Amino acid sequence: MRDRARSGTGPNAQLGSSVRRIWARIRGVVSAVAGVRLLGARDIRDIAGRIGVRPTKKLGQNFVIEQGTVRQIAALAGVRPGDLILEVGPGIGSLTLALLDAAVGAGDARLVAVEIDPVLAAELPKTIADRAPESAGRVDVLTADALAVGEAEVGAPTVLAANLPYNVSVPVLLNLLAALPSLARGIVMVQAEVADRMCAGPGSRVYGAPSAKLAWYASARSAGTVPRTVFWPVPNVDSKLVQFTRHDPPAGASGAAAASREDVFAVIEAAFGQRRKTLRAALAGWAGSAPEAERLLRLAGVDPGARGESLTVAQFARVAAARSM
Ligand code: SAM
Repeated sequence: MRDRARSGTGPNAQLGSSVRRIWARIRGVVSAVAGVRLLGARDIRDIAGRIGVRPTKKLGQNFVIEQGTVRQIAALAGVRPGDLILEVGPGIGSLTLALLDAAVGAGDARLVAVEIDPVLAAELPKTIADRAPESAGRVDVLTADALAVGEAEVGAPTVLAANLPYNVSVPVLLNLLAALPSLARGIVMVQAEVADRMCAGPGSRVYGAPSAKLAWYASARSAGTVPRTVFWPVPNVDSKLVQFTRHDPPAGASGAAAASREDVFAVIEAAFGQRRKTLRAALAGWAGSAPEAERLLRLAGVDPGARGESLTVAQFARVAAARSM
């Protein structure tokens, strides 16, 4: 029975697809009542043409023109009653409208969108008023740089959902996790290679400073691949979805107070700045000398002959904490 269900032919599979069909119909009815009309490929090109926006690489402007993709991201955001969704880089609004639809489906959820391009930010409220008139009051659009926003600008969002601008995706995500303690979870679309780095653990070829820093805040996991053909203009890379859930930061070594985030990140940067060297050598500058680095590593219970790429974020935190022992 289990095998048949997995192969998609058994009664369980049929039940699953019936449930999915019924759910899609319910969602359609909710959308129709809420009056959220998603954008299609032509709508997006028409709006861009009308407001004179020519997508730029500098701002990572690749707009999603496929409704299935924005629906998928909105579903993965898992919007709940009471959520304040933060969207970074709403662009022309294709994901914004899908998120708004999810917010309506979840009851009283709201949305705040942060867009750096003033022309796009000025147009978005008009697009929402046109495509989702009943729910336009749930959305705030800010013209701002997501690298610099904090609670003063966006309040206390609980969930991040974004097709992030590719050239700044990691710094934006790290800034938001640092500046917004309320942000408990999220789903982001990023360049495939960056997604792999975000989700990598120690021992992986692509594990690096971004992986360890993100792991300080949250657990990240891959949530699927997105082909480049869903974008306009078509980028020359594929994309992936990454889901994350915030967790408590790692503790210090026993007998040491937990190190601050800044201190832990300084160790991570030093270790990966010279990733081919042993930690004893790579951390010499940070510690003051190689023997001192060796002493601190031993205090933290870490092999001085190991390399940064084999350490968990908890181990980096213990090394940073050893300095205050
Ligand atoms: N969400 C839209 C979609 O999926 O079609 C657009 C995504 S596009 C990949 C990235 C968007 O982020 C663009 O609208 C761009 O103008 C905006 N952007 C770029 N850098 C930004 C920054 N530092 N802060 C806020 N928005 C930014």
